[in-house]
Amino acid sequence: MQCSKCGNNLHKTSSHEIGICDDCLLPYRNLKMVGDICELIYQNLNSDCEAIRDHSQTLLGPRKHGNTTKCPLSYVNKNTPIELFPTPIVKGDAVCFQFNAPELGGMLGALPLLDVQILGYTHQIVERVGLHSHKELFCPIGAIHRQEANKISVIVGQTGDDKELVVFTWHPGNPLMLYEGGFPDFERIDPMTAVKLV
Ligand SMILES: [Zn+2]
Repeated sequence: MQCSKCGNNLHKTSSHEIGICDDCLLPYRNLKMVGDICELIYQNLNSDCEAIRDHSQTLLGPRKHGNTTKCPLSYVNKNTPIELFPTPIVKGDAVCFQFNAPELGGMLGALPLLDVQILGYTHQIVERVGLHSHKELFCPIGAIHRQEANKISVIVGQTGDDKELVVFTWHPGNPLMLYEGGFPDFERIDPMTAVKLV
């Protein structure tokens, strides 16, 4: 088995389970609890890089778009442990941490294409321009199939020449693929692509 980030062979250590080698996990070794994530966001708010400062501002309140929450991350007990979640969807050297936090009131605003197809709504899916001016997939079953989600994902990575550690995003539910085109030929679309529920 090989590291999903660098391709080096994995030794049978704890990193074997999540498919990322110890070297690739090194930048994230100090992230153990929700409090560490909150602290990293506060560090990012004081970054020398304006883009990082601005982006971090968007992570402070409740999540308002897509997969939403009623409360901000700071509402969670700081000592709540976080665990690495093995997912090929998070690209580059970034990683996904997860923890359970029903107190945030998470709701899923999107499902993987696969789930929408299993539910039998493939023919109701449409392609249209979404919030960020990119084409996205939508399905008008939100009223019936919007689900609560207690599991929270946090994506952390490194950016810039000095590889600054940055919280990229956090949201309820598992990470999904961004839509890259292919509609209406669903066989060409990755089954983990996000379909927004409306
Ligand atoms: Zn590696």
